[in-house]
Amino acid sequence: MAVEDVANQKRVLVVGALGRMGEQIRAQVAIHPELRLGAALERAGHPDLGSAVEEDVVVTDDVKAALQGCDVVIDFSIPTATLTNLHAAADAGVAYVTGTTGLSVEERAEVAALAQRIPVIHAANFSLAVNVLGWLSREASRLLGDEFDAELFEIHHKAKRDAPSGTALFLAEAVAKGRNQSLEDHQVLERAGDIGARPDAAIGIQTLRGGDNPGEHTVMFVGNGERVELIHRSATREHFASGAVRAAAWLVGRGAGLYPIDQVFGLK
Ligand code: NAD
Repeated sequence: MAVEDVANQKRVLVVGALGRMGEQIRAQVAIHPELRLGAALERAGHPDLGSAVEEDVVVTDDVKAALQGCDVVIDFSIPTATLTNLHAAADAGVAYVTGTTGLSVEERAEVAALAQRIPVIHAANFSLAVNVLGWLSREASRLLGDEFDAELFEIHHKAKRDAPSGTALFLAEAVAKGRNQSLEDHQVLERAGDIGARPDAAIGIQTLRGGDNPGEHTVMFVGNGERVELIHRSATREHFASGAVRAAAWLVGRGAGLYPIDQVFGLK
């Protein structure tokens, strides 16, 4: 690469840099022509703080120092870390891409408020295919109507902290939108005991956990004597990381605002 191309590359701060996704993000940044790793942030007390992830990048827990000289943050960590680091990025005027899931309604509102100060993308899933599945789920729900019962299930690796997955909630939201329903009013997250007949408008979400599975989601529309199933299966985390890195390159230089991932993929 020419010296001027390297000089023009935007610098990325990776939050959760030594996590499962952090490792994939660093690998995708390394091969992106417009981006380079600027800093790597980890939680206080992480045993590998101070180790080098690249020749000139050492893992730190000091967010203010890490933000210096960076153009964009990519964060896949935990909700409390995302909120803390997003505040710091807003103070520093640095763009922010995050895929952290499990945020509460209040935490999501805080993300939206901070996006009035800097450009932000927060997506439950950065895979192009999953975002297309969201679109298909909404349209199937709209076209099949209330004669078909909507049920979703997801499976993820056993270390996943939040349930149901952010992607399952995103897909369930798409189903609800297709029927002009509120997901909050109709989601059913647990079934046990003498639960009686299924309410017609219910949107069921079942969660499985085990092994090292990076994520599978099935959206079912169950009718009388027939069933439609829409399925996405991840075999690796690479496509999540490449989508997030693509979003980061897209976001640098834009005005403040909360941008939907669909816009990055041109799905609207
Ligand atoms: P992980 O546990 O492997 O990695 C999280 C990392 O964040 C860890 O290294 C941890 O030490 C670090 N961390 C925790 N607190 C921190 C802090 N205060 N500052 C900096 N770093 C901190 O988890 P993972 O599998 O990489 O998943 C991370 C998140 O990304 C989860 O919420 C998961 O659901 C989500 N995820 C989203 C997508 C998507 O496409 N949106 C895809 C996969 C995973």
